[in-house]
Amino acid sequence: MKITGVTPFTVDGGARVWTFVKVETDEGIVGWGDCTEWDAYPGVVGMLNHLTPMVIGKDPMNVERMWAELTAYNIRHNGGLAWKAMAGIDSACWDIRGKALGAPVWQLLGGRINEDLRLYWSHCGTFRFRWAERLKKRPVRRLADLARLSEEVLEAGFTAIKTNMMALEDIPNPGRMTSSKVGMDISTAQIKNAVAIVSTFRKSLGPDVGIALDTGLNFRLGSAIKLARSMEPYNLMWYETETFDPGSLKTVRDSTTTTICTGESLYGQEGYRPFLEKYAADIIMPDFAWNGVTMGKKICDLAMAYDTLIAPHNCHSPINTLVSASIASTCSNFYILEFDQDDPPWRDDLMTHPLIVKEGRLKVPERPGLGSDLIEKQLKKYAVNK
Ligand SMILES: [Mg+2]
Repeated sequence: MKITGVTPFTVDGGARVWTFVKVETDEGIVGWGDCTEWDAYPGVVGMLNHLTPMVIGKDPMNVERMWAELTAYNIRHNGGLAWKAMAGIDSACWDIRGKALGAPVWQLLGGRINEDLRLYWSHCGTFRFRWAERLKKRPVRRLADLARLSEEVLEAGFTAIKTNMMALEDIPNPGRMTSSKVGMDISTAQIKNAVAIVSTFRKSLGPDVGIALDTGLNFRLGSAIKLARSMEPYNLMWYETETFDPGSLKTVRDSTTTTICTGESLYGQEGYRPFLEKYAADIIMPDFAWNGVTMGKKICDLAMAYDTLIAPHNCHSPINTLVSASIASTCSNFYILEFDQDDPPWRDDLMTHPLIVKEGRLKVPERPGLGSDLIEKQLKKYAVNK
């Protein structure tokens, strides 16, 4: 079998732009991948177009060889846009492999441990604070709206959520949060903001629902310690903070009883290994839209060697949810999967076989390949930059 075409599609994903990639073959089998990078999609599409001549004519069954060749070709810009484009092509090739062999991708990765996977409702409150109108959801403006949203969470059967700091009308404004704000230390107002949001959720959701707080790359060492300690009374599922210094994160973990999760911005085994070797986090969150199936599975297995749980980063499209399910269902160190319950209402319209989510759990698909194709007519209907 030979690859005959690689086509990117950029689609309105509500809170972000979804970047899909279609890989076609001379045997008529088509595979779908996801390499979503939110607003940086033109860069990913450019890289996909750049890599396409390298993969045309290659056998999509030989994913290890293709990954090795593309890694070597992109060695001067390891990670980033190159790996995102590589990951989209790689996942599509796994979809093709499964379809050619008549097996779900999880079957090719060793068989599944779980038939369904526990999900957490990600960006809980955050998406409705920022994009309620686009997502056709009731907006979140005040703490009472988070309490109301908690009722929805419980009614839908979710057992865990993740939220973020946000400038609600009745709590201290956290201000602009970005790692580009040089020299920023966390302010009292920011800590009060996080405490108000998390304590509201804890009170509304009860003691047993998992609550995670994600501050991404916003805070450095001292700030992360202060915030992690301020979260101790609320028994978080995790506090999520990103850094490229494993020693720094290890200091955070040693300074608090709050569970620490990290790693959405890391690439490859080499990226995760220093964090695992230092036992810098309780949980790592590999991103498969940026590491592919081939490298993603290796990262999860490497984490197992360090007795560390995985909670895949999955704030992308439904195809990456299927990719995540395909890998995570085969991992004995799987903990929980990210899921945006507040996806746009047209998400399922794009898929031949929409995701099956019941009581806060995702059914691992049974169909050959990743589990669903995308409908091109619908991709064009919701296309960005038509
Ligand atoms: Mg995160």
